[in-house]
Amino acid sequence: MLQLQQKVSRENLKNGEVLCDHCPAKCCRYFALPIDTPDTWEEYDFIRWYMIHGRVSVFVEDDTWYMVVHADCKHLGEDNRCGIYETRPQICRDYSTKDCEYDDDECYEKLFETPEQLWEYAEAVMPPKPRGLRKNGQLQLPVLAGVE
Ligand code: SF4
Ligand code: SF4
Repeated sequence: MLQLQQKVSRENLKNGEVLCDHCPAKCCRYFALPIDTPDTWEEYDFIRWYMIHGRVSVFVEDDTWYMVVHADCKHLGEDNRCGIYETRPQICRDYSTKDCEYDDDECYEKLFETPEQLWEYAEAVMPPKPRGLRKNGQLQLPVLAGVE
């Protein structure tokens, strides 16, 4: 019979254990970069371009927009351990389990997991899209299936 293993909580770590021993290395499977807050249709379209490459999402926290690229680090081993621990980048050294995503309780102000979700949001907050294909400096923007 399949036995479900209960997730070890931070409070229940045994002596000598670290949280990372019980984690599928979540923090080594993406990176996030702050991006400019979009306030024109062209800027929303630019972010949509990021997202249509796949495995890219966008979240907003404290009014700052971030692009997240979901990609495993090439040095992450099958055992979920760092393969270059002694020479890992400084940002990895500076990261700690203190506020990490182990608990899955991240709650963002806004989270867009697909370009369609982003577009739907833009439709709600932006004035109507400009018409015309690059005429008079205007950009023609598409109607996405299921959004408009
Ligand atoms: S720092 Fe947190 S998210 Fe990263 S491997 Fe350790 S427990 Fe997992
Ligand atoms: S270098 Fe090591 S610690 Fe840093 S992201 Fe890659 S596997 Fe994780």
